[in-house]
Parts: sequence; structure tokens; C-alpha cells
Amino acid sequence: MKNIAVLGSTGSIGESTLSVVRQLKGRFKVVALSVNSDINGLKKQIKEFSPRIVCVRDKTAANKLKPFLGRRIKLVSGDEGLNELVRDKEIERIMFAISGSAALIPLVNAVKCGKEIALANKEALVMAGPMIMSLALKHKAKIFPVDSEQSAIWQSLGIEDKRKVSAIYLTASGGPLKDLRPDKFKTITLKQVLRHPRWKMGKKITVDSATLMNKGLELLEAMFLFNLPAESIKVLIHPEALIHSMVEFEDGVIIAQLSATDMRIPIQYALTYPERAANSFPRIDFYKLGAMHFAKPDLNNFPCLGLAYQAAKELGSMPAVLNAANETSVNCFLDNKISFTDIPKIVERVMRRHKKISRPALADILQADAWAKEEAMRFCRRVI
Ligand code: MG
Repeated sequence: MKNIAVLGSTGSIGESTLSVVRQLKGRFKVVALSVNSDINGLKKQIKEFSPRIVCVRDKTAANKLKPFLGRRIKLVSGDEGLNELVRDKEIERIMFAISGSAALIPLVNAVKCGKEIALANKEALVMAGPMIMSLALKHKAKIFPVDSEQSAIWQSLGIEDKRKVSAIYLTASGGPLKDLRPDKFKTITLKQVLRHPRWKMGKKITVDSATLMNKGLELLEAMFLFNLPAESIKVLIHPEALIHSMVEFEDGVIIAQLSATDMRIPIQYALTYPERAANSFPRIDFYKLGAMHFAKPDLNNFPCLGLAYQAAKELGSMPAVLNAANETSVNCFLDNKISFTDIPKIVERVMRRHKKISRPALADILQADAWAKEEAMRFCRRVI
């Protein structure tokens, strides 16, 4: 039995993780769970998995949960509570499914403890990828990607020599607005955006899929995870979302990873690696499928992807600024404060105003993150 922790356990990836744990009965012991504030969801999970330690980041919510916990369960709260949880000696592998930049500090702490990390959060890596990867090397921490595209690259690379990679095809379903006419973008509603054709996900990532910023963040994620230059990564629209990404080697051979569009598949691999395990998740039926399609992304309708390529070229503190400005704009869009087409405009303005730091330390990254969020908020207010 492997002792695991699930951070962000009531979110979409967290729930899917626990569904994998349920399916692979006897393989994992859930030692720790953490949520932001969803104590009702957490209560149900505690009942089923009886963890020894739980974290509720929101202190008011944590106080509400307290009376319901037996003496055997330790409750921690706040950022310090989450940091205490990731350091717990009993935990071997941690599923990082907290969304947004809030994952950065706990991730750095988990890496410093040399943990095995199944990483579903992409923002932390985008913000501080080079630093996190070198810390992981130093502290012998292992990072196993959960994001379906990164998992595909990881599996396609296998034991091959990374120096022989000539290109990565990072596939994208294209999101819910793929076929929208250019003149319709200005009036897109929140409802349209939240209706993703292939994946059922959290709200932030669903908006990011619609702007293609999600693919931009994945571009940066792939660069850092696999130590690849931006020029070698090509975004490829593939609406069926069955090829989760491909690696082309210098001899022209391409290795791809395919599986049904179900996040439990990459989640399971990040949990069981280096082993594979049988499951009853959906399978691809090629006889029914018939065809797969591919296209080049349209940077005019989806400027966020271009901005991510720009940040990937500049590096330093720029990816953190891209990420922070995006996170704030997306939240404002979700609150109906700005329109869909304001998101890239605000990200671009914040990036343009940023004075880049070439080799940022953690403190510089946090500062750039806070600055960019404030700047983006200023622009959001001006739009209103
Ligand atoms: Mg993805």
C-alpha cells in the first residue's frame, strides 16, 4: 500500500483521483486530504477514506468542520497548515490538484521534502518551472505530470534520449469556441465558454481552454518539465482529443500517446508509475471513430496563445506575470466584470509594463505575481 495525500480533493481532479483510488482497491491508503473551503464535500470523503490529517485552507470553514471530527483526525488550516501537511513523513506520493498560483509554496515545500509528486497544477510550474525542477533534482523529489498532454509527452518519451527529440506536438481540442466566427467573439457569454465539448473540468481551466491560454500554459509547462526549447513545441488542434500529444525524433519517427478522453487515465498513471494497472475506464473504439482531424491554431482569434509564446521566449519572471495577469482577468470574467475579449488585452498590457527579472528567485517570482495581479485588477476596474 502506498500512502498518498490528495490536495484539492473536492475539485474535479481531486474527485477523479479518489475515484481511481476506489477502483484500485488495496493499492493506496489516503493519509491526507486538503480543500480550500468545501467542508461538506470533505466530510463525505473523510467518512469514506478516513485520513489521519486534513487541511481546510479557509480558517472560518476549518472552524466549522472542527466539531464534526473525531479525535483521531488532525485538522490544520491556512497556508501554514497546508505546508505542515505536505511535510508529513508518512506521505509518499502527493496529488497536487490545487488550482492556481496558490499551489506554488506548498509545491516548493513538498519538493524540498523529496516527495513523489503527481502534479496536476500547471500554474506553479509556469511561474517557477526552472527553480522547481532544479530543486527537485537537488532534493531527489520526483514530479509525475497529470495534465493529459504532459503525461502523453512523458509516456511517449519513455526511455528515449531526450537530446534526439526534434519536435513536440502539443495537441489541443480547440475548446468550445473553435468554430466561432471572428465577429462573434466580442459578445461571448460565460455560459458559452463554460460548455467545453470534450473535457469536464473546473471553471478556471475551462475558461483557459476557451482562450487557448490553457495550451499556452501547457507550452511553458512542457518546456520546464522536459527541458525543451519553445521552438520545438508545436500546438496542434485535434478536436477528437484522443491523441494527447506526440513526440517526433530526429529520424522522423513520431511516438504518440492515445487513450479515451478521461482524466482518470493520466491520473492513474501518475499514481501507479512506474507500473500500469488494469481498470474499467472507457476505451477508444477505432472502428466507430473512423477519422481524426488536425489543424493549425488561429492566433488572431486566440491571442492568448501568442502571448504565451512571447513569455516562453522571454522567460525569467515573464511567465509568472503572464500567469498572474491571466488568473486575475479570468476571475474577473467569471464574476461578469469584463468581457471575454478583455482577457488577452489585459494580459498583454500587464506583460508590456513588466520589468523582467532574468533569473528570478522565489521572492522575485512572488513579487512579480502580486504586482501583475494588482496591475491586471487595475485594468479590469478601468474596463468596468
Ligand atoms: Mg491539458
